[in-house]
Order: sequence, then C-alpha cells, then structure tokens
Amino acid sequence: MSTRFWCETAWVDGLVATGVLLTADDTGTLTSVETGIDTPPTIAEVVPGFTLPGGVNAHSHAFHRILRGRTHGDGGTFWTWREVMYSVAAKLSPENYETVARAVFAEMLAGGYTSVGEFHYVHHAPDGTPYGGDDSTRAHAMERALARAAASAGMRIRLLDTCYLTGGIDTDLSAEQARFGDGTIDGYMDRHEALSEAFATEFPVGAPGESFVHVGSAIHSIRAVPAANLPRFADLDGPVHVHLSEQPAENEASQAAYGTTPTQVLARSGVVASNLSAVHATHLSEDDIATLGGAEASIVMCPCTEADLADGIGPARELADAGATISIGSDQHVVLDALREIQSMEAGERLRSGQRGRFSPAELITSLTEGGARSLDLPVGELAVGKACDFIAVATDSMRTYGSAGEQIILSATSADVSMTVSGAQVRVRDGVHTELGPISELYRAAFAALGMED
Ligand SMILES: [Zn+2]
Repeated sequence: MSTRFWCETAWVDGLVATGVLLTADDTGTLTSVETGIDTPPTIAEVVPGFTLPGGVNAHSHAFHRILRGRTHGDGGTFWTWREVMYSVAAKLSPENYETVARAVFAEMLAGGYTSVGEFHYVHHAPDGTPYGGDDSTRAHAMERALARAAASAGMRIRLLDTCYLTGGIDTDLSAEQARFGDGTIDGYMDRHEALSEAFATEFPVGAPGESFVHVGSAIHSIRAVPAANLPRFADLDGPVHVHLSEQPAENEASQAAYGTTPTQVLARSGVVASNLSAVHATHLSEDDIATLGGAEASIVMCPCTEADLADGIGPARELADAGATISIGSDQHVVLDALREIQSMEAGERLRSGQRGRFSPAELITSLTEGGARSLDLPVGELAVGKACDFIAVATDSMRTYGSAGEQIILSATSADVSMTVSGAQVRVRDGVHTELGPISELYRAAFAALGMED
C-alpha cells in the first residue's frame, strides 16, 4: 500500500521543481520522487504552494515553552531567566510532562518542523531519586513521557539524553538541579546505556519513515560536566550535543578553571568530531572557529532564543566557511516557527556584517533540513528516495507570501503560511490544527492545567 502526494512546487535536489509526485511505502519511506508531472494523478493528495522537506529542530527543551510570554516583565539576564525556568522544571512529573510535550510537539509540527533533537536533562524526581525503584515499569519515566508525546504527535525525536553533574565548575548541584544529576559519570553512562536498551525494545528502529524515537547523548555544558569526565563521550556512537559558549560568563569560568576556552576544553578531551553538535557557539575565538570547522562538527544556531536571552550573535558564516555544518534549533521556544528561525539567523548576519545575503535562501533551507538531519543523524531532510516522507507545504498566495519569487519565499513566509505538515507520509497538521489531537491551543489548555498554572 503506497501513499502519494502531488506537490504544485517542491524543493528537490536544491532547486524548485514543479509537478512533484512523491510516493511513500507503508513504512512512510519515500520510494519515488518524480518531477515535471503536470497533472496530479487521481490517487494522489494535491499539495498546493511550495513543499519543503520537514524542518529539523536540532535543539529543544520542550518544557521551556511554558515560559513564553511570562518572563519579559522585569528585564533581567540569562541567569535571572534561568531561575524562572527552574521553577517550571520543579513542577514537572512524568504524567504532566507528557501532556506538556504533546502540545509543544504539536505546535512544533504546525511551525514547520518534523524532527526534533530534545536536549533532555530533567531525568529524576525533584529530590534526585530515579523513577522506577522496585517498579521497572516506571524506570526512565520522564524519557518515556517525552518519547510517547513525540510519537503520538507524529514528531520524529532524537532524545538527547543529557549528562548534568555539577551546578558550575567545581560546584555541587543546587537543590533545584538535583533532578538533573546522575551523581557521577559512571552513573550517567550506566543510566544512558539502560535507557538506550529500554528504548530499543519499546521503540524499535526500523525503516526510515516509521522510526520516530531515537536516542542520542549530550553534555549539558563544560559548566555541568567536569573536564576529566569529557573523554568518555568520545567513545559513544551517534550524535553528541553540547551547549557551548552561549554566555561570556561560561568562557570566563573556563579560563579561570582550565586556562582555555570551552571549545578547547572539549577538543583536548577528544569530543570535537564530526558527530558533535555545538549548540549556540556564540562567543568563540578564531581558534575555536578553526577547531570546530576543521573537525567538521555541526553547529546548532538558535537565533530567536539567542536574541530573546540577549546572548549575542554567533559567527555562523565564519563557522560554515571553516567547514562546520550549520543547523537550527528553537531551544526555549520563544517562537516555534522554522521560517522565522532561519530568517533570524540571516538577519543577525546582516546586522553584524553590514552585508545582505550572508546565507543564500538555498543555504538557509539546507541549514533547516539537511544540516539538522546531519546533526541528529536521522534519515530526513531531503525529498529523496530512501528518506522519510516528511515535508511541509508553504502557502504561496497569502498576504505575506504573494509575489515571492521561488525559494525566496522562505524569507517572507511565517509559520502562519505552513498549510500542511506531513511526517511518515501522514498528514499531522492541516491549517494549524493537528489531525488527530485537534486544536493545539486546547492541548496547551490541558498542559497548563496539568501544571496547575491555568490562571
Ligand atoms: Zn538549550
């Protein structure tokens, strides 16, 4: 049984093609991509507008969405924002987090993303006790909640199981950080291995289009994992992500403790490699840029969050020129809009350089799609045979997009123009409404109620 979509126009092999017939098998994997088909076959669903491979959101903390529109009252800094974030983290339970994450992943699909790298560190009960104990069905309860939420919404997830051991360099975890920690690096590695085995059974990885849950690893930051423990991550297979130099204070702490930058601390430990994704990479030296580029690492720029938190503008163009792969993340979800995220990256480049077109529209699409697919090591990001049938359709006739030329539409459209989101060859969101879960605002009503925050 195959599923067919006929796209009026679509991004295929780096060009705008017309009359594109996509055929997927019953695993949701593309089996053919034909262009120049003038008339839609009767068995195909017609997809008007401009079809793009689904966006890859390479950096997410799902629960941070709860903070949106609630942290602007008193100004403050990244660090004061973090205090508010901890107050939400303290409310999370496996039950309410599944409700929250389902709403967030549904909004993410509506915003143009079909895959997510969920950078997850809220592992344990608030006092730091692991879920489960004598009841093995409760083991990895928070991780299972995220995986189930993603699978039920139709969001492909790489759960980046995060190591978080210290509250700062040589500083114990605070009480509010207790649920993030695994005690020691061995504690983390043992739990990570058990999680990987549990998920391999519960969410087996099969054909590209049908595998929605994958596991990866993350180092929270060089603030939260001692340098002596970092070499252990060089032995892991698959994606390894790390928050890197988001704030100058991290660089200062690194210099004071290790006499060098966070990037060089990672490099000395052997983890700067092609499977590493450095998230933010905002405050880098020229040596740092050369190190990350030379290793062909991935970089996850989160421009809307970086603007919201007053982090600064990272050297995306220089990193790309040095050999790094640029991808995109929405991080704390100040917006969930794949188009606005890539527009913001280019806007930052223009503002800091005085030049337009620092990234071409084609390069911006590549960052959102193939770049993210590489960062998360998922079989997505291209409308090509063997990849998952994951795509979004952007309306070409809205008040925002009317008259846009070809792929330049990605600089004029917003998430309001995403008329259809498909993952695994199934329509998940149509005109802003989730096809199985219903209106996404109602999912948020349930999420805020579950957190006791309905007022
Ligand atoms: Zn983050």
